[in-house]
Amino acid sequence: MRLPSRRRVVADDAHGLAAALGAAGRRLLASVRWLGARLAAPLRTGDGPNKFRLSSVETHTTTIEGDTGWAYRPPATVRCPECAADIVQADARAAIDCPRCRVELPPGQFTDLELLALTCPLCRTRMLYGQRHPEAFDVPEWATCPNCQYHWEFKHFY
Ligand SMILES: [Zn+2]
Ligand SMILES: [Zn+2]
Repeated sequence: MRLPSRRRVVADDAHGLAAALGAAGRRLLASVRWLGARLAAPLRTGDGPNKFRLSSVETHTTTIEGDTGWAYRPPATVRCPECAADIVQADARAAIDCPRCRVELPPGQFTDLELLALTCPLCRTRMLYGQRHPEAFDVPEWATCPNCQYHWEFKHFY
């Protein structure tokens, strides 16, 4: 039972740190909680480019920026259904306007479009993303930046 106790130590350390840091710490704590859930859950391999690895050692030393909720979804690139051009939707509530053929779609149309990329809002790197409940949602449920480790979650599950 070495692994579970080590995880608890990480969480307790993060809690003390979070209290000391205030709001920024709470964000960090949310990320660490997410990491804990991620480490505890079996890795899913069939639902997207799930290539990142984070060890419990790294959670000690890395400050991770993150957001939760669809309203804070990272900028997305989707394929225009009319002309196949790339359309960048800055956030989940922005209109989806094609720069080439001028088609304009409401934000709710997002789920009908082919998602090409999510972009890190901090450093503009292409993010890795995937789903946790492909049977329940038709959208990415998490995204993580391979460059700066910014992490976004659709929803809290704890
Ligand atoms: Zn178009
Ligand atoms: Zn980044």
